[in-house]
Amino acid sequence: MKPLREAQREAIAGVRRLGTERVRVEEALDRVLAEPAISSGQIPPFPNSAMDGFAVRASDIASTPVTLPVNEDIPAGTVPTMAVGPGTATRIMTGAPMPDGADCVVPVEETESGTSDSVTIVSGVAVGTHVRPAGGDIRVGEVVVEAGTRLSARHLGSLASIGVAPVVFRQPVVALMSTGDEVVEYTTEILGPGKIRDTNRAVLRGVLDELRLPYVDLGIIGDDVEGLREAYLHAADVGDAIISTGGVSMGDFDFVKQILRESGSVDFWKVAMQPGKPFAFGQVSGVPLFGLPGNPVSTFVSFEQFVRPALLAMMGATKLFRPWVQGVMGENVTTNDEKDVFVRVMLAPDADGSFVAIKAGGQGSNILSALANSDAFAVVPVGVGSLSAGDPVKLEMFTWDENRGLDD
Ligand code: AMP
Ligand code: MG
Repeated sequence: MKPLREAQREAIAGVRRLGTERVRVEEALDRVLAEPAISSGQIPPFPNSAMDGFAVRASDIASTPVTLPVNEDIPAGTVPTMAVGPGTATRIMTGAPMPDGADCVVPVEETESGTSDSVTIVSGVAVGTHVRPAGGDIRVGEVVVEAGTRLSARHLGSLASIGVAPVVFRQPVVALMSTGDEVVEYTTEILGPGKIRDTNRAVLRGVLDELRLPYVDLGIIGDDVEGLREAYLHAADVGDAIISTGGVSMGDFDFVKQILRESGSVDFWKVAMQPGKPFAFGQVSGVPLFGLPGNPVSTFVSFEQFVRPALLAMMGATKLFRPWVQGVMGENVTTNDEKDVFVRVMLAPDADGSFVAIKAGGQGSNILSALANSDAFAVVPVGVGSLSAGDPVKLEMFTWDENRGLDD
C-alpha cells in the first residue's frame, strides 16, 4: 500500500497551476491572487475626522470651558470652504475632510450645544486627536494583499479600497461523472431491482460549489467499455480536470480500470487509508484524472485527501490541506493499524474548551448518514490500532479553510 502522504505528493505533482486573468472584485472571492495588489494612492486619500464633532486648534481649547464661533458645517462627502482660524471651530462629521488650520477634533459629546453659530467645548483634546491622517491605512506603493493569498470577503474590501481589479489564477473547469450499471439519477422515485440513487454526484457538485469551481456534469455512465471510453475522452475535452467515481477497485466489472489502463498514463493505487483505499490517478489526453472509489463515504474522503488539494494547487493556492487541531477521544475506537483511518466524528467542547470527539455513527464506507452528521475526521494514524476514551487525537477540520502546505 502507498503511504497517504506519498500519494498526496504524487497527485499534487501531477497537476499544473493554470494561467492568470484579471477579474472584477465581484468575481474574486476564493480565487488566488497571482500578483500582489499594490495601491497607487494613499488610503485614506485625505486627512479626515474620526468623529462627529468640531475641528479646532488644540491650543485654543487648552483651558475649558471655552465658547468658539462656528465657521461652517462639513458633512461627509463635502469639502471645507474656509480654514479654521485662531479662536474658531468648524462643525465636522465622521469621514469629512479636515479643514486647513484645525489640528484636532472635539467629539460632539465633549461639547454643549450653543447656538448654531457657536459651540461651548467642555474638555480639551491634544493635537491629532480623532484625526485620521492621509495614508494612515495604506501608503502609496504598499502591497495591500500578497500574491498567493486565497481571497476572502475581508480581502475584497482591501482590493475595493484601492480600486484594483485583481490578477488571479484561472479556475479549473471540472468534468465529473458517476459510473455503474446499478446507479440511477437521484430523482428516480421508485428504484428498480438492484438499483441505487446516485449520491456521489450530489456530493461532488456540492464540494465543487464550496470551492466555487465551474463544472460540467456528465451524468451517470454505465459499466460499458465503449460508453466509458467515450465519456472519458469527452471529459478530457471539456475539463481541466476529471473526477469519476466507481469502477476502480477489484471487481470483475470495473471497466473503468480497463479503459483508463488503455489510456496509458493512469495508475491504480492502493493507498494506506480508510476509507478510500482504491484510487486512480493519472492523465487522460493530458488532463488530470481522479478516479474515486464508488462507496459514497470513500468518495468524500478521497476528494478531501487528493482532489481538493490538487484543485487548490491548480488554482494557485499554496495552503492545500485542512487544519489539524488536537482534541480528545470521547470513546474507545479500534481501527486498522496498517492505515491512516479517518473516523467520522461529532465534536462537542468539554469544560476546558477542548473538542471531544464521538463517532458520528456507523463507520462503514457506505454510511452517508454518519458522514452528514460529522464535524471532522479523527485521524488514527498508521501504527495505531486503537484509542481509548480520554486519549488525545488529531482532528482534521474539514469545514475549516486550508492552512497547511505539503510539508507542514
Ligand atoms: P465500485 O467502486 O464501482 O465498485 O462501487 C463501490 C460501491 O459504491 C458499490 O456498492 C456501489 O453500488 C456504490 N456506488 C458506486 N457509485 C455510486 C454512486 N454514484 N452513488 C452511490 N453509490 C455508489
Ligand atoms: Mg461500480
